[in-house]
Amino acid sequence: MTFSKLIKKLNKYLSEKDVAEINEAFQFAKEAHAGQFRKTGEPYIEHSLSIALTLAEMELGKSAIIAALLHDVPEDTLKTIDDVRNQFGDQVAQLVDGVTKLGQVRYRGGESEREIETLRKMFLAMAKDMRVVVIKLADRLHNMQTLEGLLPEKRERFARETLEIFAPLADRFGIWRLKWQLEDLAFQWLYPKEFVWVSSLVKDEAKSRERYIQKVKKFLEKFLAKKGIHAEISGRAKHKFSLYKKLLRYDRDISKIYDLLALRVVVETIDDCYKALGIIHSIWSPLANRIKDFIAVPKANGYRSLHTTVFCLDGKLTEIQIRTFEMDQEAKFGVAAHWAYSKENEKVGTKEDIAAFAPPKILSWVKQFSEIQEELKSSKELEENLKIDIFQDRIFVFTPNGDAKDLPKGATPVDFAYAVHSNIGDHCIGAKVNTKIVPLNYQLQNSEVVEILTSKNATPSRDWLKFVRTAHARTKIRSFFKQVDRDKNIIAGKELLNKELSRFGKGGIESIGERKIKKALEALSYKNLDDVFAALGDGSISASQIIKRLFSQDDIFGPSRKKTVILKDKTEIEAKIAGMDGILTKFANCCKPEYPDEIIGFITRGKGVIIHRKECRNIHSADQKRLIKMRWEGGQKEVYPVELKILVTDRVGMIADISSVIAAANINITDFKITHLPEGQEFIHNVVVDISNFEQLDNLIDGILKIKGVKSVKKV
Ligand code: MN
Repeated sequence: MTFSKLIKKLNKYLSEKDVAEINEAFQFAKEAHAGQFRKTGEPYIEHSLSIALTLAEMELGKSAIIAALLHDVPEDTLKTIDDVRNQFGDQVAQLVDGVTKLGQVRYRGGESEREIETLRKMFLAMAKDMRVVVIKLADRLHNMQTLEGLLPEKRERFARETLEIFAPLADRFGIWRLKWQLEDLAFQWLYPKEFVWVSSLVKDEAKSRERYIQKVKKFLEKFLAKKGIHAEISGRAKHKFSLYKKLLRYDRDISKIYDLLALRVVVETIDDCYKALGIIHSIWSPLANRIKDFIAVPKANGYRSLHTTVFCLDGKLTEIQIRTFEMDQEAKFGVAAHWAYSKENEKVGTKEDIAAFAPPKILSWVKQFSEIQEELKSSKELEENLKIDIFQDRIFVFTPNGDAKDLPKGATPVDFAYAVHSNIGDHCIGAKVNTKIVPLNYQLQNSEVVEILTSKNATPSRDWLKFVRTAHARTKIRSFFKQVDRDKNIIAGKELLNKELSRFGKGGIESIGERKIKKALEALSYKNLDDVFAALGDGSISASQIIKRLFSQDDIFGPSRKKTVILKDKTEIEAKIAGMDGILTKFANCCKPEYPDEIIGFITRGKGVIIHRKECRNIHSADQKRLIKMRWEGGQKEVYPVELKILVTDRVGMIADISSVIAAANINITDFKITHLPEGQEFIHNVVVDISNFEQLDNLIDGILKIKGVKSVKKV
C-alpha cells in the first residue's frame, strides 16, 4: 500500500495543515522503522499505514491518525515516547502510550468466560480514551490479515484472542465493519475446514444472488420513488462467521436460513424509515415475529435500524434492513462515526475535542462509552451486580513478561511477589515499578509493570505483615515464620514488643507488673508470655493488640491530659443514624450528600444503609418503609496531646515532610520545637500532636519513620 492512498482519503476531510502534519509523522515513523520488516516480508511501515488507512476510512481526526502511524515506534524502535511527545505533543503521546500499554494485556487461551470478561473490562478500563481502543482494533485487524507470517501455535492463540476479546469489543463499540472482518479472519484460522465449507455454500449461490439483488433493487427503488421516498438499496451476503453460527443452530441446513440474503434500504429521514417499512409490507407479506424496531429500542451497542423478513420477489425469504444514512454510518463505524459527524456541528467543537471526551450529554455515543466505563467503576448500589463490585476494587498489574496479575486495590509489591510464586515472595528484597525502584510497601497502580528483585538468602520480614493486602501473602508470610523455630520467634517477638512499648513511652516488658500481664494473657487466651512472644514472632498477633490489653488509653496518654477539641475539618463529621452505632453506611452515588445537606438513609438488603440527600429523586420513588432518619454527628472529639521526639539527620524539606505526614493523617499539631544536637548534623524535633487512640499513634509513628533521614520516633 502506498502513502498516497492514505493522503487521498485524508484530503477529503482534513485541512491541508493537518495532512501536512500527518505527512511529517509518516516520515518520522518510516525513518524509525527503517530496515525493519514484518514476518510477511513487507517493510514494517506498511503495517502502520494500514492502520492509519482503516482509521481514515472512519474519518478519525489528526491525532488518532498520527498515533496510528507511530503506535509501534516507542516499543520497536530506538525512538522513545518522549521523542514522540517532543515532536507531536501530549495528545499524540498519550494515545501512543495507551496503545503500547494495551499491548501488555495478555491472553493465554483456556480462560473461563468470567476471566475473559475481566480481560475485556480490563482492556476498556486501561484504554481511558476511546481512540486508543479503535487504534488497537485496527492494529489487530491488520495483524490478523497478515497472520500467515506467524508460527501455527501462535496463530491459533492470536485468532482465539481476536474472537474472544477484540471482536466483542468492536461489537460493544458498534464498529460493525471491524467486528465482522475480525470474526471472519479468526474463523478462517481457527476452524479452517468449516470455513471452507461455509465459503463454498456462499460461493455456490453468489452469482444467482447477485442477479436477484439487482432485480429487487431495481424494482423497490422505483416503487419507493413513486411514493416519494428516495432510497439507496444494496445487498450483501451474511458474513461467514455469523452464517456459520446460524448454520449450527439450524442443523447445518442452509435452506432453513432466512436472512442469508439481506437488503439494506438507506433513506433520508426516520419518518421515511417507517413509511418504507409500510410500503414494503404492502407489496410483500412479512414473516411473523421477524419485524424488529431497533430505532425505537436501539441495541445495547447503539445499533439502530428497522428489520423485517418478507416473502420477496419469487417468494424468496429476504431480510430487509431499513435505516437512515446516519444510522448506516453508525452501524459501520460505531463510536467512530460520531467523530466524523461532529465536524459539521459547531456546538460540540472540533473532532479532537469530542474524541478526547466531550461532556457525556452531548453525544449519545460518547455517553455510551462513558457508561461502559461507569459500568466498570460505579454502581455498588446495583445490588445484584456483585461481579462489577469485585472488579471495581481490583487493579491489574503486569510482570515484565506481560502476564497480568489481578490484585486488590492497595496491594504492594510483596502481594504481587506472592501472587507470582511463594518462592519469589519468600526471597523478595526489592521491587521496580515501571523500571524505577520503589519501597516494598508501595501501593501498586493499575497497569504498572512490576519487577521483583530477589536474593537466594533473603527471607520474609515481619514488617511486611503490616502492609500486605492479600490474604494469600499474609498466610504465606505467617507460615514462613511458623516454620522458623519457636525459640527464634520468642526472641523476635519479645524484641518487637519492647520496641513497640518504647514507642509509647513505656519501659520493657520486664518493667510491667505481674497482675497486668496475667490479665492481658487471659484476655488474649494465651497460657504464658512465651506463647505470646511466639505468636507475635510468627505474626499471628500484632504488638499493638498486646499493648492494648496491657494498658488502657488513659494509662498510656495520661488521663489528666485528655481534652475536647472542636473539629474544624468537616470531613470528620459523620452521618449517623439517630441513637445507633456500628451500622454499615455508604453515601449514595446518585446525589452524593455532603455536610450539611439534609440527609436520609435507605436500608438495603444486606448492604447496610445508603445515605441520600433528602430531596434525592431516587428517595421519592423508594419504598418508604425502608427509609430511616439520619443526622450529622461529630464536630468535636476527645484527644490526648502527645509529644513525639523525632531524631533526624538534617536536610532541606525535613520539617515540611514531617508536618505533611501528620497533616495527611488528619492530626492536629499544637507545638513544634527543633533542637540542634551539639555534634554533627543531627536534630531533634519535638512535636506535640492531638491523638485520639493507640492505632492512630502507632500508624503515625510508622508514617514518620518512613521519611528519609528520620532515625527514630518516640513518645516522650
Ligand atoms: Mn502494531
